[in-house]
Amino acid sequence: MNSSFLYHVWGLYNHKCSREEYKGNTIILHVETKGRVKTCPQCGHCHLVKNGFRVRDFIGLPIGGKKVIIRMKVQRYKCKNKDCDYDRQEDIPFATGSCGYTHRFAKYVVGLLKAMTLQDTANLLGVTWDTVKDIHTRHLERHYAPPTLEGVDSIGIDEFAVRKGHVYKTIVVDLKSGRILYVGEGKGADALNGFWKRVKRKGVDIKYVATDLSAAFISSVYENCPNAVHVFDHFHVVKLMNEKLDDIRRVQYHMEKDINKRKVMKGTRYLLLTNGADIFDKEHKTRLDNALEMNKPLSQAYYLKEQLREIWTQTGKGEAEKIMDDWVRQARESKVPQLMKMAATIMARRTGILAWYDCRISTGKVEGINNKIKVMKRNAYGFRDERYFQLRLYALHDCRITRNVG
Ligand SMILES: [Zn+2]
Repeated sequence: MNSSFLYHVWGLYNHKCSREEYKGNTIILHVETKGRVKTCPQCGHCHLVKNGFRVRDFIGLPIGGKKVIIRMKVQRYKCKNKDCDYDRQEDIPFATGSCGYTHRFAKYVVGLLKAMTLQDTANLLGVTWDTVKDIHTRHLERHYAPPTLEGVDSIGIDEFAVRKGHVYKTIVVDLKSGRILYVGEGKGADALNGFWKRVKRKGVDIKYVATDLSAAFISSVYENCPNAVHVFDHFHVVKLMNEKLDDIRRVQYHMEKDINKRKVMKGTRYLLLTNGADIFDKEHKTRLDNALEMNKPLSQAYYLKEQLREIWTQTGKGEAEKIMDDWVRQARESKVPQLMKMAATIMARRTGILAWYDCRISTGKVEGINNKIKVMKRNAYGFRDERYFQLRLYALHDCRITRNVG
C-alpha cells in the first residue's frame, strides 16, 4: 500500500505496509518501520543489532465501513557496545504504551461519544464496550481530573443516591462554574473529609457555602471553614415545608369520615404543592378552594406554605426577619403538630436561612446537576466502574461531553 495513503488515513508516516489481508468485515494491514535504527540512543555507538520482534495489533480508523487492524512487527534492538545495556523495543509513534488502538482511533471515539452512547459507539466500530470506556476514561483523566480548586470561593454541597437509595455519594459543586469539585463516598460529614483535606493543602479560601438543613453538613462546614457564610438553601426549606403539607393532607384525608368531603380532597396533592400563582386553570382553582374551605389544618398549612416564600422576596434582612417571626408565630398558634415542628426547624436554622441576604447563593446548581446524574445513571447500565463514574461527574458541567450517555 502507498505510503501517502498510510500517512493520510492512519497517521503512519514512517512505516511501510507489506501486505493487506481481508477477513470478513476486517482489513488487516501488515506494517513495519521503514529502515532501521542504527545509532544507539543511549551511548551514541553506531552498532545496534536486531534482537527479536513482537507482533502487535492496533485498531485503526475504519475505512469503507470496515474495521481496520494495523498489525505491526515491532522490532527490538540491542546495543553492541559492551559498556552499554541498551536493549529496547522500537518506539510506536501512533499509539500510547500498551493501548491496542491508534491515537487517531481514540480521537475518533471521543468525537463520536459527543453524539452517541457508549454502546452505540462500540457497536458502530465493532469494538467492545470496555475498549470505548477505556478510551473515554483516558480522555477524561487527562482533561478533567483532578478538578482544580483555583479561584473557588463559593460551594454547594449535596448528596444523591446511587442504586435505588442504598449507596450514597456526596458532591461538592463550584457555584460559579457549576463544576463538580469533589465526589465523596457515602453521606454525612465523613464523606467530606477528603475535600477539606484538599482545601487545606491548596490553601483555598472558601467564603460561601450552601447546603440543605442537615446537621451533618452544618458541623462539617463549621469545623472546616468557620469564617465562611453558611447559607441554608431556600429550595430545601421550601421542600421541607411541602413535605409537611403533604403529610397534613394525608392525615386529614384519612381522618375525614364524610365520603363527599373525601372526594373533594382526593387528588388535590399536586394543586396543594404547586405555587399558588402558577395555577391558572379555573376548574383547578375551584377544586383547591373547596378542599381548603372544608379543612382548617389543611388551609392553614397551605397558606403558610405560600407565605414561606416571602422570606426570600424582601428588600433586606431586617424585613425578612420580621416575615419569618410572623410566620413562626402563626405556625405555632395553629397548633397543627407538623407546622409547629416546621416552626421549630426554622427557628433553629434562622441564621443560616437569613444568611441568604448576605450572599444570594443556593444549591440550585447542585439540584440541576443531580437531575443530570439521574439521566446519566438511567442510561448507563449502572456504571459499575467507580473511577469512570467519578470522571464522568467531573466532566458533567462540560456540555461538549455530557451529551453522551450509556
Ligand atoms: Zn549503546
